[in-house]
Amino acid sequence: MLKQCKLCGEPASVRVPYARLSLCPKHFTEYVERHVRNTIKRYKLIKSGDRVVLAISGGKDSLALLHILNNLRGEVGFELSALNIDLGIRKDDYSLKAVQISEKYCRELGVELAKVDMKRDFGFTIDEVFSSNHVRRPICSSCGVIKRYVTNKVAVELGANSLATGHNLDDESAVLLSNYVKADIDLLVRSGPMLPSRGERMVSRIKPLYETSEKETTLYNFFKGIQHLEQKCPYASGASTLRLKEVVNALEEEWVGSKIALVRSFNKKIKPILAEHYSKNSKDIDLCEACGYPTSTKICSFCRLKKSVSKNC
Ligand code: SF4
Ligand code: ZN
Ligand code: ZN
Repeated sequence: MLKQCKLCGEPASVRVPYARLSLCPKHFTEYVERHVRNTIKRYKLIKSGDRVVLAISGGKDSLALLHILNNLRGEVGFELSALNIDLGIRKDDYSLKAVQISEKYCRELGVELAKVDMKRDFGFTIDEVFSSNHVRRPICSSCGVIKRYVTNKVAVELGANSLATGHNLDDESAVLLSNYVKADIDLLVRSGPMLPSRGERMVSRIKPLYETSEKETTLYNFFKGIQHLEQKCPYASGASTLRLKEVVNALEEEWVGSKIALVRSFNKKIKPILAEHYSKNSKDIDLCEACGYPTSTKICSFCRLKKSVSKNC
């Protein structure tokens, strides 16, 4: 049962079990902001003078993060702009609504927004990847290739040194668990709150919501009145991460604090050992012969995907 806010004595609206806190809306939103600030500090994600581009999808996590980073930029001393990709998902006007809501919120906050339209700028869309007979990957895996490539390319072109994403604690603990089960060392070593640049034409990727849960960003937006896209991507039902999130949340119910414990212990104890092993065995990063962006193969996955889709035309 909810009691009084631990900080001001007003009726509490939220219970944060792992912190053993009951909080009113005002103190809950401040708690989330402090938590994100501490994550940035703990993992040294942003420093004064950085140029950060935040990839926004219009969803709850990226818009909550946009709000928080926008308030932090003066205090920490970094530049912030946003980036949105129109993936070209037409069912239920999904991409159209995602673009509109992203534009609206950037306008409200006065944050500069770089807009990418997959069809206009790269010649193909996610819908075309899905209906292509030549693409073998699951759709979300192809979408991941596209988003990683495009966000990096645009961030490089904008002269940024960091690309921030709205991946939250639920996403990260679920993927971590899956990679542990599969013992996928390559993916494990590349997970974490920061993936530093590995060379030319590659920015560092940072996740300031690494220790903030999905429930926290949802409530944060609710209390702050931030409108986000509530509709799920029409391709999301097949996403295996949804099922994995149910598993980590079941674990959290049984063992309060397990999601944070999972990501913290990984970063502190496991990742350094893996990173040492990986640095001796990792493939060299080169530049793609077709587009000139980083890859460990002759032609990067994005260019190969684009070629497969174009075979249908
Ligand atoms: Fe892309 Fe899959 Fe997410 Fe839809 S659910 S935006 S296809 S990764
Ligand atoms: Zn309070
Ligand atoms: Zn390429």
